[in-house]
Amino acid sequence: MHFAVSRTARLLSKRCARIQVSSRTLSTLQSRRASFTSQSSSDSVQQPLSSLSRRITYSPFATVPPVAFGAKRYFSYSRITMSTAAAPGTPPAETAQAEQQQQAEAPAGDNPLLADVSFPLFDRITPAHVVPGVRQLLAELHAEVDSLEGRVEGSWGGLVEPLERLGDRHQRVWGIVSHLKGVKDSPELRAAVEEVQPENVKLSLRLSQSRPLYQAFKALREGPEWTSLTPAQQRIVDNELRDFVLGGVALEGEAKERFNAIQQELTQLATKFSNNVLDATKAFKKLLTDPADVAGLPATSLGLAAQQAAREGHAGATAEAGPWLITLDFPSYFPVMTHAKNRALREEVYRAYITRASSGESDNAPLMERILALRAEKAQLLGFPSFAHLSLASKMATLDKAEALLEELRAAAQPAALQDKAEVQEYANSQGFEGQLEWWDMSFWAERLREAKYNISDEELRPYFALPNVLQGLFQLAQRLFGVEVQAADGEAPVWHPDVRFFKVLRDGQPKAYFYLDPYSRPAEKRGGAWMAEVVGQSRLLAPPGAAVRLPVAHMVCNQMEPVGSKPSLMTFSEVETLFHEFGHALQHMLTEVGYGMASGIRNIEWDAVELPSQFMENWAYDRATLYSFAKHYETGAPLPEELYQRLKAAKNYRSGTQMLRQLHFSCVDLELHARFKPGQGRSPFDVDREVAARTLVMQPLPEDRFLCSFMHIFSGGYSAGYYSYKWAEVLSADAFNAFEEAGLEDEEAVRATGARFRDTVLALGGSVAPAEVFRAFRGREPSTRPLLLHNGLLAGAAA
Ligand SMILES: [Zn+2]
Repeated sequence: MHFAVSRTARLLSKRCARIQVSSRTLSTLQSRRASFTSQSSSDSVQQPLSSLSRRITYSPFATVPPVAFGAKRYFSYSRITMSTAAAPGTPPAETAQAEQQQQAEAPAGDNPLLADVSFPLFDRITPAHVVPGVRQLLAELHAEVDSLEGRVEGSWGGLVEPLERLGDRHQRVWGIVSHLKGVKDSPELRAAVEEVQPENVKLSLRLSQSRPLYQAFKALREGPEWTSLTPAQQRIVDNELRDFVLGGVALEGEAKERFNAIQQELTQLATKFSNNVLDATKAFKKLLTDPADVAGLPATSLGLAAQQAAREGHAGATAEAGPWLITLDFPSYFPVMTHAKNRALREEVYRAYITRASSGESDNAPLMERILALRAEKAQLLGFPSFAHLSLASKMATLDKAEALLEELRAAAQPAALQDKAEVQEYANSQGFEGQLEWWDMSFWAERLREAKYNISDEELRPYFALPNVLQGLFQLAQRLFGVEVQAADGEAPVWHPDVRFFKVLRDGQPKAYFYLDPYSRPAEKRGGAWMAEVVGQSRLLAPPGAAVRLPVAHMVCNQMEPVGSKPSLMTFSEVETLFHEFGHALQHMLTEVGYGMASGIRNIEWDAVELPSQFMENWAYDRATLYSFAKHYETGAPLPEELYQRLKAAKNYRSGTQMLRQLHFSCVDLELHARFKPGQGRSPFDVDREVAARTLVMQPLPEDRFLCSFMHIFSGGYSAGYYSYKWAEVLSADAFNAFEEAGLEDEEAVRATGARFRDTVLALGGSVAPAEVFRAFRGREPSTRPLLLHNGLLAGAAA
């Protein structure tokens, strides 16, 4: 429904896919663009410790229900070690250091999955290693938990350190498995993962529910050692305690039983909810045989539609001659709404889309009410006035602040959205359209207007964005802003595919971190989208002998076109933005100065703050100096034509008011449902949706609109009372970039000084300090919505 189209287009074109942040709570990720699109393009942040329990893709198409709120993950890192011989020419000092780190422990048996190395043995691990390796690991870890629970004491050394070690061991192994599942999937690997996944989840649940561990954290919090802990250590302990409490571990007796029953039912309901959406999505099929019916659809969509038809028994279907099968899967649905000239087709598909899972066997309406009621009851058991309060208890925002921010943005975006609407209407009328535009017309005509106004095509831009040039520009930017040098280190660590690159990051000539880059699409074995994930995080506790810390290692995964012949990989501009986005996540992981493994890098960062560095980096892709440092024609070396750059910039804010309003609507509905709505009192969630729409939208939903029935983010994903996080983090990142604008983007010295401050605060402090304090340390004040409005061209509508 409303969100269907244009927002998604923009989201599709921006944002990462998935960061796998590891951290201790459940907050995992943030699916940004993917959110609305397909699972494959989701942007997720997998928090470090969590990777085991909740690798959840918060995409509306996600099929994995979230694990109980508050489950812990003590699972993180690995170790930075040279697992293979150093490349020829490696300076002796580094080789020595690498070897030193390698010596940490002896290899575990002959299963390469369990080898205790920092750079996993990707060249040797096969799917056959997964089941025995993970089983052996889990048996060892359960034994360690047994032993720890038996002797645990409320001290840093007797509690937090053993947990860090344990989690690290787990994360290193499970992280490899998850990673290979994403980039080198196969039927064998899928079967192996499915076999051990439940056992894996059991361990994390056990840890999150452990009463002895909870008691020990409490004892540490209340004991004599507390005052001697550093603020970072105290924050780690406080957050652990918070998560235990939110996970119901502190409850007793009947309350505890009821809590557990609620959790179980919620898990089942979440699964049922997403299954209903998937079933309902699949149930709609529209077969077209007349070429006139598919007029306007781009060649790629026709190809997809023919492929779908062939799969459904229409052998010999071709893109040119049909037949074509249209479905409600996003890659099929979206092009119909934006490109199909056949208005009746658009209407039919649109109506089917906004009523998915709202009737018959897959009706989600009753589930929705039950979910909301159970969440409210759960919050009450934990002592919160509403589920929204519970959700926000572990976030940077508070309910008041989140709602105030949404209202500020709404007030600014609404006039622009009204104007957008009028503009599209006028354009459509000028092109012969008669009457008022309906929902199924908006995206189509908005797209026509966009073409007329900006006429930007990916193909026109690609030659200026060759991957090698873009990487060079990105690394130069990192040097300029943060004083780090990125060097190719291919061959110094095993990789899973010959196209994978390996890099090291140096600061003051010394290694600071390492990362892999897997840039190209490989549909047969690699998931779509882009993401960042941890291999190992920084840790003093896990430092190899003779070294001060174990250095961080990151994965960066993208899905762009591979090089063809002598042509390098030529990127679209949105792929450039994506690369910058993921690198922002990776920088926060790699440039951390925190030595406590449970708060270094992206760990222990609140859900609504973790997208700050990634979105911040996206801004630089539009910065003239940065863009022109790499936007050179791959054959001639000619710079990007000025006129193209201007069009690119102008197109950026096309319909930004409309897009923002749509996101604000979802955010407001989500908070309203979780903060104030009471099920069973005569007002349905759909009524709430409409009431909110009257305030937030410039075009009211159809009476039959049942979009909520497929809003998986909040009913079966991790965004319940958290959808506002998208905008919250965008405000932070825009405001951070604005610090550079204020200092002067042309003033090199000012840019460097501001960059150093960003590095020493946002990137360095990670989860060791509350994000609000980190932001203040960088910006010198509270976050402001003005820079985001400014960047979106919406400042005119903002209150002065
Ligand atoms: Zn991201």
